[in-house]
Amino acid sequence: MSIPTAGWFNKGGTADRTCVCGSWQQHWVNFARKPWPVQCSVEGCNCRPTVGGHVVNPSVEGERIVPLCNSCNGLTTTFSLKGGIAVPSANKAETCERMP
Ligand SMILES: [Zn+2]
Ligand SMILES: [Zn+2]
Repeated sequence: MSIPTAGWFNKGGTADRTCVCGSWQQHWVNFARKPWPVQCSVEGCNCRPTVGGHVVNPSVEGERIVPLCNSCNGLTTTFSLKGGIAVPSANKAETCERMP
């Protein structure tokens, strides 16, 4: 699966969404299978990520979760992600609430 780095934007309207992981930060850790990063996923941003943000890309299926800082979580323009960042699905039916 090839994930483009350009053309991402915040889904918006997702602030009240929850999942059984407890937080979207933990959801990212669980499904990226990586430790929480020290830097925001947005290209050129070196801030500390504080949230698992819902992001979408026209050429990627479904909503995804990426570590974002507070500032980038509020971006209303498109942005690029750092190369190699994991973008696990935000679809609970495919991840943490998946039926065995
Ligand atoms: Zn979850
Ligand atoms: Zn950032």
